[in-house]
Amino acid sequence: MIGVLGGIFDPIHFGHIKPAITLKKKLGLKEVRLIPCSVPPHRLMPEAESLHRWNMVSIISGQNGIVADSRELEREGVSYSYDTIFSLHQEIEDNICYILGADALQTFESWYKYEDILTLCNLIVTSRPGSHPDLIKSLSPTMQSRVTSNPKDLQASQHGKILLYDADYLDISSSAIRAAIKRGEHPRYVLPGAVWKYIKTNHLYEA
Ligand code: ATP
Ligand code: MG
Repeated sequence: MIGVLGGIFDPIHFGHIKPAITLKKKLGLKEVRLIPCSVPPHRLMPEAESLHRWNMVSIISGQNGIVADSRELEREGVSYSYDTIFSLHQEIEDNICYILGADALQTFESWYKYEDILTLCNLIVTSRPGSHPDLIKSLSPTMQSRVTSNPKDLQASQHGKILLYDADYLDISSSAIRAAIKRGEHPRYVLPGAVWKYIKTNHLYEA
């Protein structure tokens, strides 16, 4: 099994990295691919340019089985997760587990071709501060029938399962980091030191 974590990574922080490492260890994933998006489908454009976001993700790539993957940045147009998972599926025979935070699961049923996504991979949902406590009840019955809390169900099925996994509960978000930097604060302990150094050197997110 391989894990795939898509995101804006504007910037990457420990709330992305820690759950990725935990899932890799606990579920025995071969690797976790971090895939920064180019044009997000559901929100404003990222604040930092693609190249900066890619460079920050690359800083931590190659350690602890985490690997940066640039396919969304190389693709024209809106970065649909379906297209990304489809291209991974063409390349990799292994079981693909798409990782998302609970906040992202809340909107999953509005994603482009979300039902087709579930024919190509499994989902792993990590808990996230601020997400709805009745998250599961807010899903459609079909989605609910896919939910499991048993990691073995992922090994048994190449696609269509949604594993809820309480990996790590870190109250960290890129938006809070960007806001802190704008206020002139130094959010050092929520992201890797080398990423913080990169942000300072390149004057990212400053007011
Ligand atoms: P922003 O605040 O700009 O939305 P973010 O911190 O949510 O940024 P994203 O790049 O939007 O980061 O998130 C990418 C993926 O990582 C999403 O699936 C999101 O749910 C997940 N994620 C981000 N932060 C955490 C966290 N602290 N704990 C668990 N999952 C997280
Ligand atoms: Mg987000």
